[in-house]
Amino acid sequence: MKKNIILMGPPGAGKGTLAKKLISFGLVHISTGDMFREAIKEGTELGKLAKSFIDDGHLVPDDVTIGIVKERLSKPDCENGFLLDGFPRTLPQAEALEKLSKEINRPIEVVINLDCDEEELIRRVSGRRVCKNCGAPYHIVNMKPNKDGICDICGGPLIQRADDNEEAMKVRLQHYVSQTKPLLDYYAKLGNLVSYNSLMGSDKLFDEISEFLKK
Ligand code: AMP
Repeated sequence: MKKNIILMGPPGAGKGTLAKKLISFGLVHISTGDMFREAIKEGTELGKLAKSFIDDGHLVPDDVTIGIVKERLSKPDCENGFLLDGFPRTLPQAEALEKLSKEINRPIEVVINLDCDEEELIRRVSGRRVCKNCGAPYHIVNMKPNKDGICDICGGPLIQRADDNEEAMKVRLQHYVSQTKPLLDYYAKLGNLVSYNSLMGSDKLFDEISEFLKK
C-alpha cells in the first residue's frame, strides 16, 4: 500500500471529498485549509493572519504555511502514512516539503492530481456547503444531506465557506494557474505524478485510486 501522498488539483476538484474517503486506509488527512479554518474558529493569532488572506482568495504566506506543515508532519501519528490536501501550493512549499520529508524519513511516494474543467469547478464551488462543526463536505445538487441544512455525520449546521463566492473563486483560480499548476511539472520530473479526471464522480474516483494505491 502506497503512503505519504500529495493530493493536487484546483479548488473544487474534489481533493477534500476524496481525502475523507481515503482515510479508511489509515492515512492521516492533513489539510492546510482545514488547519487555517480551525485557527480562525479558535481566534488564534494564526487564524487572524490567515483570515486576512483566505477570505479574498489569496494564499497565506509560505513561511507561515510551511511552518504549520513542518510541525504537523513531524507528529508520531504520521508515521503510518499521510495524505496532504492543499499543500504544497507554491514552488518554495514543494521544495521545503521535499527537504523535510527526507529529513524525517517520510518521503513522498505519490502525487495524485485531480483534473477538472473550469466551468465545472465554479459550479461545484458555488454549490458547496460544509458542516460548521466537523467540516464534512456537501453540495446543494450532487451531494445533498439527508435533512436540508443539517450534517448527516454530526448534526451540525451546513454553511457556505466565506471564500466560496465568485470573486474569491476567481482569485483562487488565478493563484492555482500561476503558482500551483506549475508544480505538476516539478512532480512529473521527480517521477511520482499520476492524474485522474475528477469528472468521473467521487465514488468511481475513490475506487480507481484505491486500486492504484494498493498495487
Ligand atoms: P482549501 O481548503 O485547500 O481550499 O484552502 C482554503 C484557503 O486556505 C486557500 O484559498 C488559501 O487561502 C489557504 N491555503 C490553504 N492551503 C494553503 C497553502 N498550501 N498555501 C497558502 N495558502 C493556503
